[in-house]
Amino acid sequence: MTKDKDAFPLFTTSDDHEELRAAVRAVAQDKIAPHAAEADELAAFPKASYDALVASDFHAPHIGEAYGGVGADALATCIVIEEVARVCAASSLIPAVNKLGTMPLILAASDEIKAKYLPPVARGEAMFAYGLSEREAGSDTASMKCRAKADGDGWVLNGQKSWITNAGVSSFYTVLAVTDPEGKRGSNVSAFVVEKSDPGFTFGDLERKMGIKGSPTRELIFEGCRVPGDRMVGAPGEGLKIALATLDHTRVTIGAQAVGIAQGALDFALGYVKERSQFGKHIAQFQGIQFMLADMAMKLEAARQLVYVAAAKSERGDKDLSFFGAAAKCFASDVAMAVTTDAVQLLGGAGYVKDYPVERMMRDAKITQIYEGTNQIQRIVMARQLLKA
Ligand SMILES: Cc1cc2nc3c(=O)[nH]c(=O)nc-3n(C[C@H](O)[C@H](O)[C@H](O)COP(=O)(O)OP(=O)(O)OC[C@H]3O[C@@H](n4cnc5c(N)ncnc54)[C@H](O)[C@@H]3O)c2cc1C
Repeated sequence: MTKDKDAFPLFTTSDDHEELRAAVRAVAQDKIAPHAAEADELAAFPKASYDALVASDFHAPHIGEAYGGVGADALATCIVIEEVARVCAASSLIPAVNKLGTMPLILAASDEIKAKYLPPVARGEAMFAYGLSEREAGSDTASMKCRAKADGDGWVLNGQKSWITNAGVSSFYTVLAVTDPEGKRGSNVSAFVVEKSDPGFTFGDLERKMGIKGSPTRELIFEGCRVPGDRMVGAPGEGLKIALATLDHTRVTIGAQAVGIAQGALDFALGYVKERSQFGKHIAQFQGIQFMLADMAMKLEAARQLVYVAAAKSERGDKDLSFFGAAAKCFASDVAMAVTTDAVQLLGGAGYVKDYPVERMMRDAKITQIYEGTNQIQRIVMARQLLKA
């Protein structure tokens, strides 16, 4: 057995990853954190955060060098999202949803589609969103009603998509629609790139949300929206398979977002308990407080490790990615909810008011248990993989 430290790098992040973390943290602290409360208060897209992310190439880090991106691996992309989420969850949806929207292209699109749509995202000139869910088809995605009907050499889309993150501010959309209404459920859906400027494509009003308020969420509405035939991503009928394969990879990024939100809340609470005095001493000196802090940090570290292992599996394309992606997202989001709730508790009354960021972090954490599949659905995904073995 070797005792050589360099021969045993498995359970640590690389120096490159940690240098990346330091670089993202600096940008997040200086350029993104100052706008987080305002983006939440005004429910306004944090353009200053977007500009700062573009200036530092952290807005869509997963896009490969062949398409003008920086080619960050899945773990590096998670670290970017985690560090941005530590100060502003809404801003972390910029790199996260750029990955979500483009992942179907990366997994399945023709070279022509990739060459056309990935470079503008890499350059920061366009954002990419992902339209799968519908009002009546959330968890049960295969029951979607949005239709794409063949029309000459193109397709005509009719229907709607609900709760789409970064809708309106994004130029491009991966949209899932039924192309064969008589076909087998789940195998009758295809994926398309739709451009914001396509005639017949409009948006619903901004959703008024509990958290991640700086990230616009809107319906996509298609009324006779014609797209050229070369905008299909993958083969006809492959759409849902591509959409679900995408989620295997991107659920890991939601796990990273959850870890970041929880870390931000823990860091703030740690500072507060060392300053706040009651009964003649800093509250950090009470064992009841110390035990809460220890539990928060323990759960958070377990979540981070699971997310990083899942990220490595995403990068390698391991067979058990479905299980690990679902487990990482489910566990980390439950931890984020618990840790942010405890952070509010540690601040007492100050935790409940907007003077401090932990109440925003608690509201922001909740969505991580819901989107990209609720945590009940993650358990179904995990059980399916367990029982298949
Ligand atoms: C802010 C926000 C942003 C979003 N962004 C996007 C986006 O960018 N793109 C996109 O396509 N979608 C997006 N969504 C949609 C999101 O993914 C769905 O809301 C989610 O998948 C749940 O669907 P639903 O809301 O229809 O809930 P439902 O499916 O109606 O579920 C209701 C409840 O029933 C439970 N449930 C359902 N089926 C089962 C089952 N079989 N077993 C046990 N429990 C079950 C659910 O877990 C949940 O608790 C977003 C949603 C929100 C709120």
